[in-house]
Amino acid sequence: MALPFLIVAIDGGAAAGKSTTARALSARFNLLHVDTGSYYRAVTHELLRLGVATDDPGAIAAAAAGLALGTRVEGRNARIEIAGRGVEEADLRGPAVNAAVSHFAAVPAVRAALLAYQRDQARVAREGGFAGLVMEGRDIGTVIFPEADFRFFLHADPAERARRRAAEGQQDSIAERDRLDSSRKASPLQCPAGATDLDSTHLSLEEVVARVSAPIAARFAAGA
Ligand code: C5P
Repeated sequence: MALPFLIVAIDGGAAAGKSTTARALSARFNLLHVDTGSYYRAVTHELLRLGVATDDPGAIAAAAAGLALGTRVEGRNARIEIAGRGVEEADLRGPAVNAAVSHFAAVPAVRAALLAYQRDQARVAREGGFAGLVMEGRDIGTVIFPEADFRFFLHADPAERARRRAAEGQQDSIAERDRLDSSRKASPLQCPAGATDLDSTHLSLEEVVARVSAPIAARFAAGA
């Protein structure tokens, strides 16, 4: 029986549980894990390195159009490279990137620079022998893969999300990023029509993963 190649889209606000859920699905079903937040973070790091200001749309567009993007698969993770270089995890999650990322991500030219690149991750997953891909972000089920086999939207109370980030030892302006991400014109953060909407505030991680996994396991069991 031929197994299907499945695309799973997970969207939601900062610290809603997307990454942990995506990692668990990736391990259980052998899916390539694509964290598009890390892509926006890497592009932000590069624009800051080039000295581009967050309030200069012309310079942002010019710099974004010139980025040479590549992918390195590390285990089950797709890592972005810019001009053949990866970005250290500490830099991706540092305060400078936290403060700037939602501003750059609101600029249509930045989103355009990443659009085809993100869709092409399906090819990377196929060529890497994966059973599919799980992609997390803000606009995966609405813009990148609206035809995904599964689309989930995770949310949780702001207090619970702040607690989770603090438990990871990270300082992050979650509420401010969510406000910017939800109110921007270009691909705002919103629950995709028809997606499964899951409130994880009172669920353990295991419960979230169990709920999200069940229909995927059923599809794999049913075959192509
Ligand atoms: O997922 P993470 O919190 O690392 O994402 C960092 C930022 O990247 C988000 O706050 C958002 O501004 C941007 N982003 C986006 N679209 C995506 C993924 C992330 O605009 N698909």
